[in-house]
Amino acid sequence: MNEPRTVPLRPRDRLYATVTLVLAVLLLPAAFVRRPGRARELACRWALRMRFPAEDLTGLTDGAKAAFTAARTEALWRHGQLIGLTSGYRDPHVQQRMFDEEVRRSGSPASARMLVLPPAESNHVKGIALDVRPHEGARWLEDHGARYHLYRIYDNEWWHFEYRPDSRGTPPPRRPHPGVGHDSTLCPPPRPPWSGAAPPGLIPNVRAMDNNELFRFVAGKAQESLRGGKMNGKGLATIVVAGIVVLLGFVAYRLILIELITRLR
Ligand SMILES: [Zn+2]
Repeated sequence: MNEPRTVPLRPRDRLYATVTLVLAVLLLPAAFVRRPGRARELACRWALRMRFPAEDLTGLTDGAKAAFTAARTEALWRHGQLIGLTSGYRDPHVQQRMFDEEVRRSGSPASARMLVLPPAESNHVKGIALDVRPHEGARWLEDHGARYHLYRIYDNEWWHFEYRPDSRGTPPPRRPHPGVGHDSTLCPPPRPPWSGAAPPGLIPNVRAMDNNELFRFVAGKAQESLRGGKMNGKGLATIVVAGIVVLLGFVAYRLILIELITRLR
């Protein structure tokens, strides 16, 4: 129920996934030198950083971050599947403004809660919620996420996952939308103490936005999720250039090795 439309897989999504995986394989020797025990994870992390240069994992709890990193490593390495983060931790002040804006847009707190929760209830503010992309990656996480205590929570948000180690492998019950299952569904909670002044550590450009700008920013993020992630020409060029550099480095390394072996003979 309320299952959003399926976003068809774009041919370039396959290409991005393949290029990122090739890059991870090429980076493996360097990752092995750096950290022999966790070379695969490190190589995938480097390659994914090039594919999703704008994503930010700061603010997530250590557990959520480790689980997400391990899950996306397996997705890429074993199944060639990309998983990117659209939105992880959110500052309470930002979450409050998103909620207020949704109340204004939808007409009431009750209808706003179908899409956005106030900061006191949002698991994005707690650092355990992750909005992922593209749709195929979210589907992979739905199938394999339990191994990492990562679960889809809402019927109406295919992109929203939460780190729930307390559920011990049993998926937490799925809810139709974020507004269901909180005690305060009927009575919105009082405004939290941080709603007046912005707390420290707030991302400055988000803080400087007026409500219209913030709404456009959030709507853009949602569109980005539906489209399966933004990848501009610059991002692709970075990956291709990095791939060529690594490849040339590898060839040079082999040539030097052959030269050394020949001389030793
Ligand atoms: Zn979310």
